[in-house]
Amino acid sequence: MKNISVIGSGTMGNGIAHVFAQTGYQVNLIDISQEALDRATATISKNLDRLINKEKITEEVKSETLGNITTSTDLASGVKDADLVVEAATENMKIKLDLFSQIDQHAKSSCILASNTSSISITKIGSATNRKDKVIGMHFMNPVPVMKLIEVIRGYSTSDETTKIVMELSRKLSKVPVEVNDYPGFVANRILMPMINEAIYTLYEGVAGVEEIDTVMKLGMAHPMGPLQLADFIGLDVCLSIMKVLHDGFGNPKYAPCPLLVNMVEAGVLGAKSGEGFYKYVAGSKDLTVSKQFQK
Ligand code: NAD
Repeated sequence: MKNISVIGSGTMGNGIAHVFAQTGYQVNLIDISQEALDRATATISKNLDRLINKEKITEEVKSETLGNITTSTDLASGVKDADLVVEAATENMKIKLDLFSQIDQHAKSSCILASNTSSISITKIGSATNRKDKVIGMHFMNPVPVMKLIEVIRGYSTSDETTKIVMELSRKLSKVPVEVNDYPGFVANRILMPMINEAIYTLYEGVAGVEEIDTVMKLGMAHPMGPLQLADFIGLDVCLSIMKVLHDGFGNPKYAPCPLLVNMVEAGVLGAKSGEGFYKYVAGSKDLTVSKQFQK
């Protein structure tokens, strides 16, 4: 493996490109938006500067890493020489199925196609291609350069060989891969999202307030962040959409999204990215104040 194409240069795509490039792979970062590509290269450069300041890498490593990255807005030519494609485009079924069908037409027949999807079935994504055995999930965690885990998801038809190659490659990136099967939410979100949903139910039913719930989980369970703050960080719309995937996929009422979560998303209260969720967010400030709605 030498050439890696990363599709989508948003939050996850820029981190994935960074990690591959710093490990020495040639990375072609592809997005439909030139602006997104420019933002991604600026973010990678800034994150490398941070590593230099912490004396974790040298200036030389920074320039080698940046030198390993090219960008493109043309999918067909961008995946032509790839040994591995990692797709990290917007979480939308139609976008992913269209992308995988196009990538399948333009990438070499030996190329492995991975998706970083949080909730879409790898089996379904594989079915949009003529190489189901070479389609796999590589679920990186945010922020990618920092977080060690890669959930490696085997679709129904993913081959042992593809899985072995991706597990080994993940270790080369100094990550810890964990192999899981393709069922709704995989492992990470199947466990995390019902916990967050239960925290929202606990608030909704008046058992305790926002700070109390987060304090119990932080100090009692040694979680670095309480579940309500984490929900704000992930995005309440993303949490709701993953709960719907679990609810639809298993048909079990225990996964029903809390009505408070549904209401907040309908009101456009989406967490940190919209300036308000369970807490209020002011740009440039690290203060964490409970939203007016939930103050006692
Ligand atoms: P994002 O919105 O930050 O970035 C998505 C990028 O994809 C945008 O730059 C957009 O222009 C680009 N894009 C959209 N359609 C495209 C197309 N057809 N071709 C090329 N580029 C296209 O999204 P994100 O948060 O980086 O999420 C990307 C993927 O990673 C999603 O599948 C998401 O579920 C998954 N994921 C996200 C997180 C997270 O914490 N954000 C964590 C794990 C996995």
